[in-house]
Amino acid sequence: MRQLRYLMLVVLFCVLFFHPIAHGENEPSLPPSPSQPYTTFNDFNTRIRDGRISKTAAHTELSGRLAAIRADYYSRGGQEYASTEWVFPVAGYNAGTIEKRGGHGFVASGYDFFSGNRHGGHPAYDIFIRDRNQDCRDDRTGEAVKVLSMTGGVVVALENEWRQGSKLRGGRYIWIYDPAHNLLAYYAHNEKLFVEPGMIVKPGDLLAVVGRSGLNAAKHRSPTHLHFSVLRLTDGQPVPVPAYSELQRAKCLPKPPSPLNHE
Ligand SMILES: [Zn+2]
Repeated sequence: MRQLRYLMLVVLFCVLFFHPIAHGENEPSLPPSPSQPYTTFNDFNTRIRDGRISKTAAHTELSGRLAAIRADYYSRGGQEYASTEWVFPVAGYNAGTIEKRGGHGFVASGYDFFSGNRHGGHPAYDIFIRDRNQDCRDDRTGEAVKVLSMTGGVVVALENEWRQGSKLRGGRYIWIYDPAHNLLAYYAHNEKLFVEPGMIVKPGDLLAVVGRSGLNAAKHRSPTHLHFSVLRLTDGQPVPVPAYSELQRAKCLPKPPSPLNHE
């Protein structure tokens, strides 16, 4: 009985002195902040971009980093979205606004993800908006044009700091990793970003608005567009995917006005 009373006193002591509230701390005892693998991935991606890591070292590191991100994605309830649920990445537009000629502007040859900002090729589709006066506003509506996530996934890297005169080709860009398809999706030349590394997205979620950021995209000769790439991880190498048919099949949100529907 005496032992029990002693035990109760010890328990009471522990509750009073070791409970976070007793110390005036409000930190919940949750697992470590999920932002951690993402801030380090963003830094890793920036080193690739700026040529501050060798291609071999980057190639070796990439798979492990993405595996950690994949595990975190599922542990936080990240979902798998089939490609039939994908959404066209520019709101109010469809694939009819992508260049019609040849490969629709897609050139995979010469591209190496690990070459960063100095990469060759154009492993992407440029999705043009109606912006004759280049003010990044849709000429039909006077409004900014939303960039939507095509796939599900998690924001793994971005750049917010682009300024006029910067040599950075992607400008204000976003990279999203889709663990379900082992894809990296790249959205470049945005005017303004609305996401942070570590944010989980589903198809159709707002990422940014279309802009003219980036070395060449800022030049007068460049019509306002979203530069959109899909890369599939193959033996640790992000390989460009010719995703034109996926862009054609993707759901358009909101439904474009009728002239754009005749594709
Ligand atoms: Zn482009």
